[in-house]
Amino acid sequence: MQSSKSIKVSLRIGNGFDVHPLTPGRPLFLGGVQIPHNKGAVAHSDGDALIHSLCDALLGAASLGDIGRYFPDSSPEYKGIDSKILLSHTVALLKARGFEPVNIDAVVALQTPKIAPFIPQMRAVLAQILAIPEEAVSVKATTTESLGFVGREEGVAVYVVCLIQTLA
Ligand code: MG
Repeated sequence: MQSSKSIKVSLRIGNGFDVHPLTPGRPLFLGGVQIPHNKGAVAHSDGDALIHSLCDALLGAASLGDIGRYFPDSSPEYKGIDSKILLSHTVALLKARGFEPVNIDAVVALQTPKIAPFIPQMRAVLAQILAIPEEAVSVKATTTESLGFVGREEGVAVYVVCLIQTLA
């Protein structure tokens, strides 16, 4: 019988941060969900700051650099791209190196609109791409009490931490 010590699962933490300016007439995507709003992200891709931050957290946990290394915003291939595709690619990159996500925790800093009604949908979308239970996907929202660029409704900022583990 093998001792439990022979099964070595290694855990690694990662963090990500992303900001996008908000401007009228653009769609607002967060966590793979379109949020009805009169402003959206200025970006080369669909501007989903939650997914970009999540990609950076996952890549960081695996010491694989950052999102710009794999999906450069100078590349026409990624113009207007659905960020869910970038997240799928990121999960595949981790898997190829023997890692899989365990859980994530995101904080979306946005003055308006209230995104709470969309959080269950975001968790479902992200959990499916990450291949982890919805219970392992946490998305929280905060305003910045009208302070700073978020408070002035000039932009959205998203912080993500994640845990990954070596594939069993
Ligand atoms: Mg971004």
